[in-house]
Amino acid sequence: KEYLGVKHLLFCNNGTIVLQMALRAYDITGEVITTPFSYVATTNAILWERCTPVFVDIDPETFCIDADKIEGAITDKTQAILATHVYGYPCNVKKIESIAKANDLKVIYDGAHAFGCRYQYKSLLSYGDISTCSFHATKLFHTVEGGCVITNDDAIAEKLMLYRQFGH
Ligand SMILES: *Cc1c(COP(=O)(O)O)cnc(C)c1O
Repeated sequence: KEYLGVKHLLFCNNGTIVLQMALRAYDITGEVITTPFSYVATTNAILWERCTPVFVDIDPETFCIDADKIEGAITDKTQAILATHVYGYPCNVKKIESIAKANDLKVIYDGAHAFGCRYQYKSLLSYGDISTCSFHATKLFHTVEGGCVITNDDAIAEKLMLYRQFGH
C-alpha cells in the first residue's frame, strides 16, 4: 500500500478472482464495456459474473481501449467499464473517468500488467473505482501465483474483505 500509495489493497489467489470480486462488489449484472485486446481472463471474469461483455475497439498507439469510442457503446443496460492497461501502458484514465461520471458507470481497471507503472506521478493502480493486479509468474512483479484488489473506498474494501475471508 505504501509503495503504491493506495488506501486499501487485499492480496488474493490470482488476478482473475479479483476481477470477479470487483464486479460483485458493485452489484454489476448488466452490460460491461470492455476491451477485446487483453488476456482472456478479463472477459472470462465478466462471463463468470453472468454479465454481458460489450467490446469497444482499441487505440492503435497504446493497445488499450479507445476512450473516444466508449460513449457509442453505452446503452441503458451499461453498468461498468472494465479496461486493461495493456503491457502497462495507461488507458486514457481522465477521459474514462469523465465518461463514467456523466453516465453513472463504475470503472474497474485490470492492472495485471501495471504493477509499478505510474501515471501523472501516481500509481496506475490508484485510478478507477477498483483496480486489480496479478502476481502470476508471467507478470512484471510476481509471487508465482497471486493477485490483489485495490480501492480507495472504505465500504467497498469492507465488502471485498468479507468475500475473501468467508465472511469473517
Ligand atoms: C494474467 C492476466 C490476468 C489473470 O491473472 P491470473 O493471476 O493469471 O489469474 C488478468 N488480466 C490480464 C490482463 C492478465 O494479463
